[in-house]
Amino acid sequence: MPVTSAVVVGAGIAGLSTALSLAHHGIHADILEQAPQLGEVGAGLQLSPNASRVLQALGVLQDIEAHWRRPDYINLASGLSLKTLAAVPAGSFAENRWGAPYGVLHRSTLQQSLLSVVLKNPLIRLHLGTRIEDAGRKQLAELVGHSPDVVIGADGVWSRTRIMIPGAPEVSFSGNVAWRFTLPAKGGPGFLDPANVTAYLGPNCHLVAYPLREISGYNIVAISAGVSPGETWSATGTEAQKALLARAFAGWHPSLQSMIASAPALNYWPLFQAGPGQWHGGGDTVLVGDAAHAMMPFSAQGAAMAIEDGFDLAALLAHHPLQTALDRYQSLRQARAARVRQRGAFNKFVYHARGPIRMGRDLVLALRPPQSLASDLDWLYGYRAGEQV
Ligand SMILES: Cc1cc2nc3c(=O)[nH]c(=O)nc-3n(C[C@H](O)[C@H](O)[C@H](O)COP(=O)(O)OP(=O)(O)OC[C@H]3O[C@@H](n4cnc5c(N)ncnc54)[C@H](O)[C@@H]3O)c2cc1C
Repeated sequence: MPVTSAVVVGAGIAGLSTALSLAHHGIHADILEQAPQLGEVGAGLQLSPNASRVLQALGVLQDIEAHWRRPDYINLASGLSLKTLAAVPAGSFAENRWGAPYGVLHRSTLQQSLLSVVLKNPLIRLHLGTRIEDAGRKQLAELVGHSPDVVIGADGVWSRTRIMIPGAPEVSFSGNVAWRFTLPAKGGPGFLDPANVTAYLGPNCHLVAYPLREISGYNIVAISAGVSPGETWSATGTEAQKALLARAFAGWHPSLQSMIASAPALNYWPLFQAGPGQWHGGGDTVLVGDAAHAMMPFSAQGAAMAIEDGFDLAALLAHHPLQTALDRYQSLRQARAARVRQRGAFNKFVYHARGPIRMGRDLVLALRPPQSLASDLDWLYGYRAGEQV
């Protein structure tokens, strides 16, 4: 018998989009979220067509489109000279090629848009201020007033649901940290592109900048080697950590260095990743989003994978008995996440190249027309979640 009710632990991007995906198939969902309200955690996000297609189906994209920005290009530029090395077309090209738009927005815009659609859906109940320490049946049934058919752990990289699954992935610090800050467009550095996403590449680190309409400014993320402050999503950078950042970007173009040196309120994000393991343990509990596959942001796909997970899982749950659905979900989604991770590792190699490899990279990129760069991404951006039932 296909399932009719679920408990979803966590109301991040994974939890909210999974609950909406379940409701899309007529499945009831109770979302349990530890935070008393859904706030402003995070910074900018790039949303690629594979994710925006799902948001369109869930009735969320319409709201987002009023707030996000659609870049014309995703540029790769040298962090040393600021010269553009290559450009992947986005804008209407992305919509025509991959069937859905590419956009950049604040994470809270996405979360609030998902939330407003969740709150209007009679099949979903949201329980804020409800932290789950032990996602055991009895505790969950007491909280929601019935015994759900399936428990979905969407509780992020520090998931508590994961401990219910024998052989679940372990999470470890990647050795890399992300520094995030925003800058107002007015009076901001003149080299930043007000219409496009630009990844500035350099030896052992890179920096991504793009405009955010919601703040009339730019979102900046700098990624380099670093140390972990422990189990947290973000911490404010200490002076010593800021010195480490300045050292990582020493030798970069002076304009980039002075932008980093004068950045206000830097946030420091340790990057953790999940290893291999089971996403369901043969019972009725399953993981989605970062709880299952926290990954490095080198292909800007963590939130997109969470959105795809929920849509694929809901379609499978609606069409198959629970165990068949969970088995198929795990093999489908693990293969997809592995490919995205591989692409991220390739991007890291290309972005952080130095010496002769860097020169070779620049030559190859200069020779590749935008259409050919885009065709490398067909498998990623052209994916149609929910159709592999
Ligand atoms: C620097 C950086 C840049 C990124 N850029 C991009 C990008 O451009 N595009 C992209 O697609 N992705 C990007 N990502 C990845 C993306 O932000 C994450 O993959 C995504 O937000 C994960 O969503 P989630 O819902 O799985 O987890 P989370 O957002 O962590 O949500 C988990 C939720 O569960 C709740 N929770 C946790 N524990 C409990 C508990 N015990 N009981 C109840 N509730 C609980 C939390 O309060 C939270 O609301 C980036 C990540 C980083 C670090």
